Amino acid sequence: MSDKTKGQMMKEELFYKKKNAFETKTQDELKAAKDYAVGYAEYLDASKTEREAVLASIELLEKAGYKAYNLGDKISAGDKLYLNNRGKGLFAIKVGTENIENGVRICAAHIDSPRLDLKQHPLFENDGFAYFKTHYYGGIRKYQWATIPLALHGVVLKANGETVNVRIGDEAGDPVLCITDLLPHLAKDQNQKPLGQAFTGEGLNVILGTSPYFEEDGKVTPSDEKVKLNIMIMLNEKYGITESDFISAELSIVPAQNTVDVGLDRWLLGAYGHDDRVCAYPALTGIIEAADSAKTCVVALADKEEVGSDGVAGMQSCLLFDIIDELAKNLGGNTNVVRMNSKCLSADVTACHDPNYPEVSEKRNAAILHCGIGMSKYTGSGGKGGTNDCPAEFVSFVRNLFDGEGVIWQTAELGKVDQGGGGTVAKYIANRNIDTVDVGVPVLSMHAPFELISKSDLYEAHRAFAAFCK
Ligand code: MN
Ligand code: MN
Repeated sequence: MSDKTKGQMMKEELFYKKKNAFETKTQDELKAAKDYAVGYAEYLDASKTEREAVLASIELLEKAGYKAYNLGDKISAGDKLYLNNRGKGLFAIKVGTENIENGVRICAAHIDSPRLDLKQHPLFENDGFAYFKTHYYGGIRKYQWATIPLALHGVVLKANGETVNVRIGDEAGDPVLCITDLLPHLAKDQNQKPLGQAFTGEGLNVILGTSPYFEEDGKVTPSDEKVKLNIMIMLNEKYGITESDFISAELSIVPAQNTVDVGLDRWLLGAYGHDDRVCAYPALTGIIEAADSAKTCVVALADKEEVGSDGVAGMQSCLLFDIIDELAKNLGGNTNVVRMNSKCLSADVTACHDPNYPEVSEKRNAAILHCGIGMSKYTGSGGKGGTNDCPAEFVSFVRNLFDGEGVIWQTAELGKVDQGGGGTVAKYIANRNIDTVDVGVPVLSMHAPFELISKSDLYEAHRAFAAFCK
């Protein structure tokens, strides 16, 4: 006999109760979550730009037996393929044995993150300092980028077409770069400015060096721009580049900090670029784990989400749909029918309720830390503007899928209704007649140089994508 009253029992039966990993999982399952995070941290440290994420992802896929594929190659049931889109985007394709007209299971994440890109003429000297001028990429809060150690990552295509990879600031013993800020003693005027205006885009100049070039006789060069010259000579010696090569380069300033456990209990992972590699990595491990399933699955890792998903490597490009066309053509299906019956998880992060800033989230509908992967039926701003707003039928499908596999998940709304908002790639896929809903890991301090996520939420993301691909 239960001691509970009828009312108590009815409440248990009728009310929704959010699941928390610590209250739901065994100690072994919790350990599995912490263990899983180790591989993710390695992936993240190797992936500070979209180009680096492509390479780290290919390494994972090749270990799992995936082979390079080019558009137009023959595709057969059972193939495990990847398409490298110009080094900036990646598609993992697991060809199943069931009828292709049953549709494709798609997990779509992005591998670009907010950062400071170098301008095309970045190098200049001012009062004995050599600097790089930057143009920020994506939604950053500018003040967060001053007075932290920064690294330089990217590629330079030299005049002869040769590509040079640049990576300074992350290896032990490397120097780092930095943007300065005012001392509080002299910040009287700056302190009066609104936070969004205290730092300007043109003010985000990165220190490269402060010493002049010395001639062979040991004396400072008599030419002007002595410090810029010194830095340019150092870059030329290390990479063989000249100043004009910056024109055909993609160089980015990213935080020099690597991934690290946060908190004495080590349940949080702090790093640059969780958004959205914290969904890209579990999508990859999910499709790899579902190797034996009869379904055809695609993991799409796109560039340019943080600036609107345009361009050849963004999710608004037709490439994902060209791949679906190729699958249909090679496996004997009608591509329109394949898309109609395909299903997509738009795998992107969501905002985690932050007890330090409770005023911006509506707690009943916000994602809560350690309560699993978040599903956002809708995103958008100002009355769901620009949202995919997934039909209830597909929400029902995903809900039952996750519950059936014991995935810990929750609903997630980005913030209070009139507080702001955001979007994802979901609509670009749904617009092509593919059922799509947003799911992703809740993030604290999203878009900051150092973002936080829960290891248990990360692990549930892996379990969710594996269940979807199975
Ligand atoms: Mn994102
Ligand atoms: Mn973002």
